[in-house]
Amino acid sequence: MIFFKTDEEIELMRASNLLVARTLGEVAKAIKPGVSTLELDKIAETFIRDNGGVPGFLNYHGFPNTLCTSVNQHVVHGIPNKTPLKNGDIVSVDCGALLNGFFGDSAYTFEIGEVKPEIKKLLAATKQSLLLGIEQAIDGNRLGDIGFAVQEYTEKLGYSVVREMVGHGIGKNLHEAPEVPNYGKRGNGIKLQSGMVIAIEPMINMGKRQIVQEKDGWTIRTVDNQMSAHFEHTVAIRKGKADVLSSFEFVEEVLHLQSEK
Ligand code: MG
Ligand code: MG
Repeated sequence: MIFFKTDEEIELMRASNLLVARTLGEVAKAIKPGVSTLELDKIAETFIRDNGGVPGFLNYHGFPNTLCTSVNQHVVHGIPNKTPLKNGDIVSVDCGALLNGFFGDSAYTFEIGEVKPEIKKLLAATKQSLLLGIEQAIDGNRLGDIGFAVQEYTEKLGYSVVREMVGHGIGKNLHEAPEVPNYGKRGNGIKLQSGMVIAIEPMINMGKRQIVQEKDGWTIRTVDNQMSAHFEHTVAIRKGKADVLSSFEFVEEVLHLQSEK
């Protein structure tokens, strides 16, 4: 069952997602070679709690941390650890927060130091596919229009789309109906209607689309150990244009300032 949100509830969700966006901005300030994902996790947890929120992923079905940190061939659901990030790595940082009874959810894949040009292209394409998916997230369209947009763009570039892991409805629960696949057929699936709030999160692989789960019971990685990228926004369906509730503005402000140094 899909839970539709009132305008007031969508404003509460904007606040939850603003907290997530600002938390990712704090991560952006700290992320660099030599820093561990567990250190980033502590920064995120402290920031969320200091701002009146509760980490959304911590203890979710037993997940042990605030962030999901998925490095290189890891796709999603990586558990933060003490291994220092190194030059050339990429890391998907996925953050959820509960504030005023509603969840926010957003993810950004960061480059650590100097990343190979072909990996930069994968990241840029994955982020662009998210934006193309969001363009389709409007009242009257179908769920398949979102997946089609993501799949068509990324597969034309020679990448592959993870099938088993998908986006989702979000609200008072971190994961609600409907599932939001990153592949699909134009015009297929349920009709999108104002008041639906969904997290769109393409997971795009450099090589094969197939994934496996690591022995830790959480981390998903590519079966061929090639790189994978992941970007996510929470969006409210509206007439004419989606209302993007999360934001990369805080992250990109930090990254832009660093690149100017
Ligand atoms: Mg997420
Ligand atoms: Mg999500």
